[in-house]
Amino acid sequence: MSDFTMTIGGQGVAAQETFDVVNPATGEVHAQAPDCTEKQLDQAMESAAAAYRDWRRDEAARRAALRAAADVLFAKAADIAPVLTAEQGKPLQDATMEVYGAGVWLKYYADLEVPAEVIQDDDNALVEVVRKPMGVVAAITPWNFPLVLGSWKIAPALLAGNTMVLKPSPYTPRSTLALAEALRDTLPPGVLNVVSGGDRLGAWMTSHPVPRKISFTGSVATGKKVAAAAAPDLKRVTLELGGNDPAILLDDADPAQVADGLFAAAFQNNGQVCSAIKRVYAPQHRYDEVVEALAARARAAKVGDGMTEGVQYGPINNRPQFERVSELVADAIAGGARAAAGGKPIDGPGFFFEPTILADVSDGSRIVDEEQFGPALPVVPYTDLDEALARANGTHFGLSGSVWGADADRAAEVAAQLDCGTAWVNTHLAIAPHQPFGGSKWSGIGVENGPWGYYGFTELQVIHRSKR
Ligand code: NAD
Repeated sequence: MSDFTMTIGGQGVAAQETFDVVNPATGEVHAQAPDCTEKQLDQAMESAAAAYRDWRRDEAARRAALRAAADVLFAKAADIAPVLTAEQGKPLQDATMEVYGAGVWLKYYADLEVPAEVIQDDDNALVEVVRKPMGVVAAITPWNFPLVLGSWKIAPALLAGNTMVLKPSPYTPRSTLALAEALRDTLPPGVLNVVSGGDRLGAWMTSHPVPRKISFTGSVATGKKVAAAAAPDLKRVTLELGGNDPAILLDDADPAQVADGLFAAAFQNNGQVCSAIKRVYAPQHRYDEVVEALAARARAAKVGDGMTEGVQYGPINNRPQFERVSELVADAIAGGARAAAGGKPIDGPGFFFEPTILADVSDGSRIVDEEQFGPALPVVPYTDLDEALARANGTHFGLSGSVWGADADRAAEVAAQLDCGTAWVNTHLAIAPHQPFGGSKWSGIGVENGPWGYYGFTELQVIHRSKR
C-alpha cells in the first residue's frame, strides 16, 4: 500500500498496483507509490480538460488560488520536506528550502503582471497582441529537484489559464504526490492532477491526444524521445535538458578567493544539478593551487544520511546514477587522472560517493566530455584562453557556464563568448524566478521562469479592430 495517493479530479486515487521507492541513504525500499494505469491517466487528462473550461476564464481567481497555494506550501514545508529527503537523499534543511522554493515560485507568478501589448492604435486600427492558454499541459519532472522544478511548470502554466497533469520521476514520486495532496483544497478539482508511475507513464502522456503542450525536464536522451512523441500531434514542447557546464578561471582569478563559489556550485545537491559546474578550466600557472583549494573543500565536506543534523551532502539519488558516477571516475583514474580528493564509493549501505576532485585530466576523458551529474569534478589545465573557450563550447551541451576573474568587465567579455543559455560572471547557479532559464544546443528548447517562462505556456493571439 502507498500512503500517498494520486490526485485526479481533486480526489485521492489509489492504484491497483504500486512500485517500490528506495531510500538512497540505505539502498533499501522504504515505501510504495501508486503505479498509474492507462485508464487512470485518461481520467486525469479528462478531468484537466473539464477543469480548463472554467479555470481559463477568471484571472483574478487564478492569482488568488496561486497565492493561497504558496501559503499552503510555506505552512506545510516541515511535513513535506522529510518525504523528499527519504526518497531523494538531500539533507533535510535543503529539502525544506526546496519546499519553500516551490512556494516562492507560485507566489512570484501569482503576482506577475503581463500586460497585453498594443502594437497599433491609429485612425486605421487598434491592434493588440494577447496571450491565450493552450489547454491541458503534460508536465514531466526529474528526480533531482522534484518540487521546485514542478513549481517552475505549475505556476506559470496555471497562471496562464492552463490545467495540468504532472508526473514526477519514479525515483522521487512521493514528495510531488504529497504536494498535490496539500493543495487539494486550494486549487479547484482537475486543475492540477498528479499521477505517478515509471517511464512508460511518461511515454503515455506525451502521446496522449488531450495535452496541447508538453513541459519536460530531464535528460537529453529522453528529451529527444519527448520531441519525437510530440511531433505527430504538433504539441508544443519546452525541453529543459542536461548540461555540462564549464567554469573558466582567468589568469587574474585568485584560487583562494573563488574556490568557495566554485565548490558550492559544483557540489550543490551532491552535484545533481543540471546547471552545476561540471568541469573547471584553470590556467596552467595556477593549476596546482586551484586543484588543492577545491580538494581541501571536498575533504572537509560532511557526507551522510540527509536526516542527520550537520550533513551537507547526501547520497547519490539512485543505483544507476551511483554506478554511472563510479564508472566515470574509475575510467578517468584508469586513464591517468589523479584523485586529489575522494575517488571512490564510500563503504557501507546506501549510494554514497566521496566528494571527488580529479586532476591531470583533459577533454577527451569521459568525465570531462559527458554529464557526470554527481559529486565528482574534473579540473582541466589550459595555457591559451581561446583554446579553453573552444573546448568549453565544443560539446552538444549549452545550458550554462561561468567565467571567474578579478577584472569583472574582462570576465564578462569572455562569458559573452560562451555558447549557452546563462553565462555567469564570478558566480554560478544564481537562479531566480524572474530570470529566464534554459539551454541552447542539446540542453533544451524554450525557457522557464520570468515572463518568458509564462509565454511558453501561451499562444499569441492578435486582436485587430478596424476603425474604418
Ligand atoms: P530522465 O530523462 O531519465 O527522466 C526524466 C523524467 O522523464 C522522469 O519523470 C521519467 O520517468 C520520464 N521519462 C522517461 N522516459 C520517458 C519517455 N520515453 N517519455 C516521457 N517521459 C519519460 O532524467 P533524470 O535522470 O530523471 O534526470 C536527470 C537529468 O535531468 C540530467 O540530465 C539533468 O541535467 C536533467 N535536468 C535538467 C534540468 C534543466 O532545467 N535543464 C533540470 C534538472 C535536471
